[in-house]
Amino acid sequence: MNKKRLVLIGNGMAGVKTVEEILKISKERFEIAIIGEEPYPNYNRILLSKVLQGDTTVEDITLNDWSWYAQNDIQLFTSEKAIHIETVEKNVITNNGTTIPYDELIIATGSKPFILPIPGNDKEGVTTFRDIRDTVEMVNASKKYHRAAVIGGGLLGLEAARGLLNLGMDVTVVHLGNNLMDRQLDATAASLLKADLEGQGMRFLLEKNTTAITGGKRVERLKFSDGEEIDCDLVVMAAGIKPNIELAQQAGLTTNRGIIVNDYLQTSIPHIYAVGECAEHNGIAYGLVAPLFEQSKVLAQAICELDVTPYQGSIVSTQLKVSGVEVFSAGEFIEGGEKKALRIFDEQDALYKKLVFNGKKIVGAVLFGDSREGTRLFSMIKKQADISDTVKVSLLQPIGGEAEESVVATMDAEEIICGCNGVSKGSIVQAIHEQGCISVDGIKACTSASRSCGGCKSMISELLEITLGESFKPEFQKETLCGCTSLSRDEVIEEIRNKKLMHTREVMNVLGWTTLEGCSKCRPSLNYYLGMIHPVEYEDENESRFVNERLHANIQKDGSFGVVPRMYGGVTNSDQLRKIADVADKYKAKLLKVTGGQRIDIFGIEKEDLPKVWEELDMPSGYAYGKTLRTVKTCVGETFCRFGTQDSMSLGIALEKRLERIGSPHKFKMAVSACPRNCAESGIKDFGVVGVEGGFEMYVGGNGGTHLRSADLLGKVKTAEEVIEYASAYFQYYRETGIYLERTSKWVERMGLENIKVVMEDPKQRQELNERLNIAATVLEDPWKKIIGSEKLKNELFEKVTVEQ
Ligand SMILES: Cc1cc2nc3c(=O)[nH]c(=O)nc-3n(C[C@H](O)[C@H](O)[C@H](O)COP(=O)(O)OP(=O)(O)OC[C@H]3O[C@@H](n4cnc5c(N)ncnc54)[C@H](O)[C@@H]3O)c2cc1C
Ligand code: SF4
Repeated sequence: MNKKRLVLIGNGMAGVKTVEEILKISKERFEIAIIGEEPYPNYNRILLSKVLQGDTTVEDITLNDWSWYAQNDIQLFTSEKAIHIETVEKNVITNNGTTIPYDELIIATGSKPFILPIPGNDKEGVTTFRDIRDTVEMVNASKKYHRAAVIGGGLLGLEAARGLLNLGMDVTVVHLGNNLMDRQLDATAASLLKADLEGQGMRFLLEKNTTAITGGKRVERLKFSDGEEIDCDLVVMAAGIKPNIELAQQAGLTTNRGIIVNDYLQTSIPHIYAVGECAEHNGIAYGLVAPLFEQSKVLAQAICELDVTPYQGSIVSTQLKVSGVEVFSAGEFIEGGEKKALRIFDEQDALYKKLVFNGKKIVGAVLFGDSREGTRLFSMIKKQADISDTVKVSLLQPIGGEAEESVVATMDAEEIICGCNGVSKGSIVQAIHEQGCISVDGIKACTSASRSCGGCKSMISELLEITLGESFKPEFQKETLCGCTSLSRDEVIEEIRNKKLMHTREVMNVLGWTTLEGCSKCRPSLNYYLGMIHPVEYEDENESRFVNERLHANIQKDGSFGVVPRMYGGVTNSDQLRKIADVADKYKAKLLKVTGGQRIDIFGIEKEDLPKVWEELDMPSGYAYGKTLRTVKTCVGETFCRFGTQDSMSLGIALEKRLERIGSPHKFKMAVSACPRNCAESGIKDFGVVGVEGGFEMYVGGNGGTHLRSADLLGKVKTAEEVIEYASAYFQYYRETGIYLERTSKWVERMGLENIKVVMEDPKQRQELNERLNIAATVLEDPWKKIIGSEKLKNELFEKVTVEQ
C-alpha cells in the first residue's frame, strides 16, 4: 500500500499524542512529517511548573526523545515555523522556505499567552510562562534580580509564583478579580488558598488593574488603575491564553476563538484537522491536556478511517501543582438554579469540601486541604453517576478513621486513575499482571498513566503496592544512582552538598547504602561527584578509579601499557622526540604510534617500568586514560598555512594548558582549526573552534566515535581570550551537570543546546563558572611527577619495582 503523507504542524502535547495514537493503530498507513517551532523534541509542558519549582529538570520532561522520531521514520523539522498552507495544492510552507506536501494535515499549534496591551509590555524582564525558553529566562532572572510580579492569580500564575519563591525571589501576585483561581474555585476555597499561599511567603494584590509597566530598558515598576505602584524587576504575564489560529485564519479555515472543528476534529476544509488548544469544539477551546488527549484519540481513529465514537466534549478537572497545597476542582463548581451544593467546612483545620448536584447527578466538586477523593469524584462526575441511593455526605468520606482507608483499594476497575491520559485502575492492574510492571515508570511506559501532570503517581504507587503485595519494591520506583541506594544521582548530589559529605564511605554510611563497599558503578561516580563538589578539600580515592586511571597509563591486551606524554596542541620538538626515542629503545617499546590526537603513544611498556619511563621522559602525562581533557588537536594555522586566518596552534596550546588534568564526567576532546577548511576536525569534538574572518566559531557536543555526532554551533566570538573564557565555562558547566560517564554529545542533547546557550551567553554565569574552575585547577599536580616523587605511591602501585629494588 502506498503510504499517504501526514503532516503535523506543532510538535506539542496534543499533536504528538495524536501521532502516537495513529502509530498504535498502524505504522504503515502514513509517511509522517512534524513541524515544530521550538528547538526541542516533544516535551511535557505541564511539568514546566515543576522545573521552575526545582522539582525536576528540563532534561527530565522530554516525552519523546530524538530517537523516537527516527525509530518511527518521522521527518522532524524543529526550530521551523509553518507560515503558510496551500489548501488547494496541499502543501505546507515553512519560514525556512521548505515546502512539505500533505495528503492529510493536522494543525496543533496550541495557544499563545495573552500579553496585556499596556505600555511597557515589551521591556526587558517581561516574560510569559509557556515554554522552556520562558522557564529558563525566569530561572536566570532570579539569579540577578529579587522582586517578581506575576500578573494573574489563576493556576499558571500561582504555579509560576511558587517557582519564583523557590528561586529566592520576593513575589507579588497581581489579580484583576477578587478570588484566586476564579475559574476553578468558589470564594471559600479561594480565600483558604490565599491564606495558605500567604503563609508560604506570597503577597497578593487583588482587584488590581495593571495599566503600565515602567522603567528604563528593563522593567522597574508596575502601575495600577488606582494610582498605586509596586517595584519589580521581573514581570510574568499569566493572564490567560489565546488559541493560536493565525495560520488557520490565513489559510481560510473557519475560526472563532479557536479553529472550528466537528465531532471528528475536521475543520471547514477537507483533509485538514485541528486538535488541542487551538481547536474549538461546540464553542469550547480547552486549555488542559485531558480533553486534548480525548480529542487525539478520536482524531487518530477518524484519520485512520476506523469506526469511531464522535467527540462529545469533555468535563475537566484541575489540581494545583504547588507542594503543600491540596486543591482540586472539577465540573460545575458553582451552585445556583437547579444546581444545589453540599458543603463541609472545617475552619480550624482549613478543610473545605463541596459537591454540586443537579437533581440525581453529581456535576461538580471543589476540595481544599484534602483532595484524596478527587479522582473518585471526578470519575463519578464524568460518568454522570446516579446518586439517588447514596447518602450524599458519604461521598465526601468523613475525616477520621475511615478516611485513612486506601482510596485506590476501594475504587472500581473502570474508575479513572490518570485523568490526563484516561487510564483506569483496571488497565493499570492488567499491566502489572500481564506486562510485569513493577514500578511507576513501568506503568508509565506500558499505559501512559502519570505521563502528564504526574498527579496520579502516588495512587499508582499505592496500587502497585496493593497489587504486588510482598513483591512490591519501593526502591524500583525511581532511577537510582546504582543498586546500592534508593537515591537518584541528583538526590545524592544534593545530599552531599547539604550534609557536606566528604568521603565515599561517609556518603554510603550517611545515606544508607545497602552494601558495605558500594559497587563498580557507584564508587567511581561518587569519587567524581565528591571531587567536583569539594575540589580543594576532597582527597581523590585512587582505589575507586578504573585501572587505567589508577596506574596513569593505558593497559593493553597483552598486559603491557601504553604511555602517552602530553604534546600541547600537537606541537613537539626535537628534544622531546629524542627523549621518546631513547625511552622507547631502553625499555624495549613494541611500537611507537602517532595518535589521532596528534601525539605519540609508546606501546609495550611493562607495568614496573612505568615510573622510570615517566622520569626519563620528563614530560607531563597526556592523560590518554583520563576522564578529563585529552587533547587539543590543532592545524598549523596562519603561521604556515596560506589559508589560515588565526593562530590555531597558540590557541590550542593555551586551551590545553587551561583545562588539562581537571576531572570531568567523561573524556573531553578539543580542536582548533584556523579556517573553515577545518583540518583539525573541529566539527566532531566535544569543543571545537574554527577560525573565521574577524573571530572564531565555537562548536560543541561533537563526537567522532561509535555514536557519530556533528557538533552544534555554540556561538561566535572575536578573540582567542574569549574562546578560552567560553571553553572554560562550558567545561565547568559540563563538570557540574553531567552524569558520570556521559559524553558531551549525550549531555548536550539531554540538557538542550538552547539551555546551554542561555548559560553561556550570560557573562555573569560565565564568570562564575570560570571562577569555580579556577578553584578546581589550584589543587592539580601532574600525576606522573607525583608518583615519581613518592616511594610510597611507587610501592603501592607498581609492586614489582619495590621487589627489584
Ligand atoms: C506551565 C504550564 C503548566 C500547565 N499545567 C497543566 C496542568 O497541570 N494540567 C493540564 O491539564 N494542563 C496544564 N497546562 C496546559 C497544557 O500544557 C496544555 O493544555 C497543552 O500543552 C496543550 O497542548 P497543545 O498541543 O494544544 O499545545 P502545545 O503543547 O503548546 O503545542 C503547540 C506547539 O506548536 C508549536 N507551534 C505553534 N505554531 C506553530 C507553527 N506555525 N509552526 C510550527 N510549530 C508551531 C508551538 O511552538 C508548540 O510547541 C500547563 C501549561 C503550562 C504552560
Ligand atoms: S584549517 Fe585552514 S588554516 Fe588550518 S591547515 Fe586547514 S586550511 Fe590551513
